[in-house]
Amino acid sequence: MWPDARAPNRTGSPSSDLSTRLPIEPHHTAPRSSVAALDMASNTSNYKLSAAVANAKYNDIIPYEGATEKTTHEFLQKIVDILVDYIKAQNNRNEKILDFHHPEDMIKLLDLKVPQQGVSLQQLVHDCATTLKYQVKTGHPHFFNQLSSGLDLISMAGEWLTATANTNMFTYEIAPVFILMETVVMTHMREIVGKNWRKGDSILAPGGSISNLYAFLAARHKMFPNYKEKGIATIQGQLVMYTSDQSHYSVKSCASVCGLGTDNCVMVPSDESGKMIPAELERLVVERKNRGHIPFFVACTSGTTVLGAFDPINDIADICKKYGMWLHVDAAWGGGLLLSKKYRHPRMSGVERADSVTWNPHKLMGALLQCSTIHFKEDGLLMSCNQMAADYLFMQDKLYDIRYDTGDKVIQCGRHNDIFKLWLQWRAKGDEGFEELIDRLMELSEYLVKRIKEQPDKFYLIMEPEMVNVCFWYIPKRLRKEPHGPAREAKLGEMCPRLKAKMMEEGTLMTGYQPDDRRPNFFRNIISSAAVTEKDVDFLLSEMDRLGQDM
Ligand SMILES: *Cc1c(COP(=O)(O)O)cnc(C)c1O
Repeated sequence: MWPDARAPNRTGSPSSDLSTRLPIEPHHTAPRSSVAALDMASNTSNYKLSAAVANAKYNDIIPYEGATEKTTHEFLQKIVDILVDYIKAQNNRNEKILDFHHPEDMIKLLDLKVPQQGVSLQQLVHDCATTLKYQVKTGHPHFFNQLSSGLDLISMAGEWLTATANTNMFTYEIAPVFILMETVVMTHMREIVGKNWRKGDSILAPGGSISNLYAFLAARHKMFPNYKEKGIATIQGQLVMYTSDQSHYSVKSCASVCGLGTDNCVMVPSDESGKMIPAELERLVVERKNRGHIPFFVACTSGTTVLGAFDPINDIADICKKYGMWLHVDAAWGGGLLLSKKYRHPRMSGVERADSVTWNPHKLMGALLQCSTIHFKEDGLLMSCNQMAADYLFMQDKLYDIRYDTGDKVIQCGRHNDIFKLWLQWRAKGDEGFEELIDRLMELSEYLVKRIKEQPDKFYLIMEPEMVNVCFWYIPKRLRKEPHGPAREAKLGEMCPRLKAKMMEEGTLMTGYQPDDRRPNFFRNIISSAAVTEKDVDFLLSEMDRLGQDM
């Protein structure tokens, strides 16, 4: 149940100050939804600390002098209660996904100021409850908005442990267990990419965008090993990279970050289903070569962000081989399908021919944010490309085998521990459990497609999906008789932001929309949460119809 906004203040009596700041029933702009029990504010007594602890301050708990284990325990236990209650509420289909307020109203509902004098433990408990009260519940079974959704509790338990261990990943010296886990899990992931990848190298990066950047840096280093010391002058000519017009924008950003300029990230046209056209890639490579440029890097996408399309890796690998270019596969999104015998082929056939692969466990695999990996077929490149051997951290004369100081392979210094939550999750599920999860998400997406097709008056499927991205329009009553064509598409496109706004005001459903090069706004629904069932897919469609039919 939800905490009452009126938490007791430091004297233990209800605070009128807080209750005016946090009305139980904030001004509703939207009409009430049909969903029952939306009133999330409830009883604060769940989160009442004992009288002795309520007025205690930060220095009454460990590690401060005079602190007691009892006070410490009570405080932390209360925080855990809040977190567990949040998880329960999130999985209650009668709860809203969000309680939307515009930023200027939200700031009034919250007390965010940093005080001169620190607040009590009871106030901190209350602050934590309030924070979650207004948070969007990304693990709610009716949240279909983002590539990363759901809340895997094993992975979350791992994140709690990680937070408690609070160590940095740069050296074996201070993270021995986590560094070894990293080695084991990364080797396992490479073996899944391809048999000939076992001896390669990998690292966890802060997101797929940075993983793609690592691929770019390694590719340039491989071709121009002197670049690291001598810089741009060692490259006699214009470097050019290629990716499809459907690729993630982080690929293009490599060109701007690394001195090529975005004009030298060539966007290769894609076909109707969003796949890179290999013949176009070759034509554009030859065109640049004829101008004396140096095409060196091709990023193909396995699972594009909007359409969930898969570039034909084998055809692109042939072209890379012919022209001596590095092949990177951005499987930040689609990488999870590597775990499924049923869905891996033909989508990612040929992935073992790549030089590098980005794969985000925090997307389809449901690991907690953030968890992103980059893998290389060739060992040693990451280290020779990025190593700076800082002599206060990566001393070369240490007690142990310094190859385990993986921190010197990266362009960061400190690195967050993103491995433990993934390792723990993999221990729990095994390869089999992950395969079941991936297959289930794909089957639920197939179910959604089937249900859309069964209601052609209300929904228009834009294409047969290859992944869990299902792209479609919702058709309100007034447009149901109109023949489908550019005129109706334009009107359906205008509907999307209005229907999305309604979803957010009601708080009952979230799914994403966007335009692309070929069409105006359309909905892109994502099923990447283990919480979703067929009933939730049915709810998705009926709720869109309830909210949108008269628009
Ligand atoms: C999500 C995504 C990225 C970026 O990953 P972040 O972890 O958000 O930085 C890159 N490429 C593709 C295809 C993606 O879907």
